[in-house]
Amino acid sequence: MGVDGGEEQMQEPAGCEERIFVSVRLRPLSENEIARHDVSDWECISDNTIIYRNSLSVSERSMYPTACTFDTVFSSDCPNRQVYEAGAKEVALSVVSGINSSVFAYGQTSSGKTYTMIGITEYAMADIYDYVQRHKEREFILKFSAMEIYNESVRDLLSADNTPLRLLDDPERGTVVEKLTEETLWDWNHFKELLSVCEAQRQIGETSLNETSSRSHQILRVTIESSAREFLGNDKSSTLAATVNFVDLAGSERASQTLSAGARLKEGCHINRSLLTLGTVIRKLSKGRNGHIPFRDSKLTRILQSSLGGNARIAIICTMSPARTHVEQSRNTLLFANCAK
Ligand code: ADP
Ligand code: MG
Repeated sequence: MGVDGGEEQMQEPAGCEERIFVSVRLRPLSENEIARHDVSDWECISDNTIIYRNSLSVSERSMYPTACTFDTVFSSDCPNRQVYEAGAKEVALSVVSGINSSVFAYGQTSSGKTYTMIGITEYAMADIYDYVQRHKEREFILKFSAMEIYNESVRDLLSADNTPLRLLDDPERGTVVEKLTEETLWDWNHFKELLSVCEAQRQIGETSLNETSSRSHQILRVTIESSAREFLGNDKSSTLAATVNFVDLAGSERASQTLSAGARLKEGCHINRSLLTLGTVIRKLSKGRNGHIPFRDSKLTRILQSSLGGNARIAIICTMSPARTHVEQSRNTLLFANCAK
């Protein structure tokens, strides 16, 4: 029919639609960690198993597994390209087939979330543009928006206006962020320009709030609409629309502190709310999509609801410092990852 295998790729990816892809990534020891003679206690012994090498006390042994298995584990020398290819790619690119998706980086502050998400987002966008180039029989419209959730307050990262944005319930589209800027993407350079606008806005926000990104969630969102340029006598004439979300989560240290220290919900409470609710939602989704899932309990999960529930695809990269001094946080990250898989 003169269509270069495009039809096949436009269909739903085969198998494992219900699964959440969960991976763990170790970063290298940082210069500071090396300078204070910290050591690495974790090792990836295969492409899906990570082990704790230091000895555990008897009581610890009952609390923490010494070996954990996930879809993939990435050792500290693994480049972003490989992290992307191993799972996030398939999830992110389902957007061109009309399937919503979310890719998350979860972990304590300075474990490598932003480093990972920047890499994944850029590789995914490059692949999306490549796909668009190779499928001239369809017309694609790409739209970009970006927001930050800080203390359950949503801010537009493409606008200099810092007024918190409201969430509205639209009968057709679900939860909508009112007045959120949505830019039609012209090309790769335009995308890169918008990323720098986001980065600048984020830094302005940090300065004015005297805060760091460790407390906020950042969502970069790309919506792709496509329709056949001409009727080809099959279902390619239909219009497809879907959204992919790249989510750089707030540092997990407060959420896990709260988990371990009981209800210490004071100043960090809202971050905990979005992060804790996400944890609950992911845990419930990983056990199947039936029953009540508390999407509405936080801003983050409300905004992402249509890209988490239903037939949406999810990838989570849990980032970890290998350092002995961070063992407590690393274990909490693995507990989260275990619940998600
Ligand atoms: P987070 O966003 O979780 O707070 P960052 O992504 O900012 O952490 O990472 C903290 C530091 O570690 C940065 O300087 C970053 O460049 C570096 N880093 C993180 N992950 C890796 C990695 N896999 N390889 C090399 N350097 C890394
Ligand atoms: Mg970061």
